Amino acid sequence: MQPRSAEERRAELVELYREARACARCPLSQTRTNVVFGSGNADAGLMFVGEAPGMHEDQQGLPFVGRAGQLLTKLLEEIGMSREDVFIANVLQSRPPGNRDPQPDEIDACKPFLHRKIELIDPGVVCTLGNFATKLLTRSQRGITSVHGRPQVHELGGRLLRVYPLFHPAAALRSTKTLEDLRADFARLPALLEEPPPVPVGAVAPVTAAAGAARPAEPAPPTLFD
Ligand code: URA
Repeated sequence: MQPRSAEERRAELVELYREARACARCPLSQTRTNVVFGSGNADAGLMFVGEAPGMHEDQQGLPFVGRAGQLLTKLLEEIGMSREDVFIANVLQSRPPGNRDPQPDEIDACKPFLHRKIELIDPGVVCTLGNFATKLLTRSQRGITSVHGRPQVHELGGRLLRVYPLFHPAAALRSTKTLEDLRADFARLPALLEEPPPVPVGAVAPVTAAAGAARPAEPAPPTLFD
């Protein structure tokens, strides 16, 4: 298949946004104020995936606009990036009442939207923020405490890319140690973004400086997205 132009991919993203706004695949559609589709640069090389919209996100229809979002913006600025350089989305596009955990049926209902966003934006690196995004996109039950800061190679949206698990900024607001770890993991992002695209298992990879030097890359083989 011919690679689609940035313009075509952006147009498909707008179409997907329209679909999401009308989505009633799970009961959260009845309690949400706004669908939170995601925001940022549709051609970003770096994408963040959080958990679910909270109260502020639900009101504004935008991801990460509350305190956790302010911390995310600050951490990006500390590595010389801005929100306009990246695309930010969530596992769920609708707020769970009272900010309770996403339920398996809600994650299943919303998953195709996230897969499609990754396919259309086509980033080289996807940062998963916290356990829900990490477990979903690594298709593993290994928790964020053991996997944060180690890039993994996965096949998502039909291409190999790097998944870089990070603590959720909301957790970093509650713990100084978690904030230190999150900041240290963020500091390795610029080098990770410079890495050449991952090569399929069995192919010969070019030798480069390891972006995740302090926490070596996961040896896990690529996994397939359903
Ligand atoms: N937490 C999330 O996981 N996502 C948001 O959009 C806001 C807070």
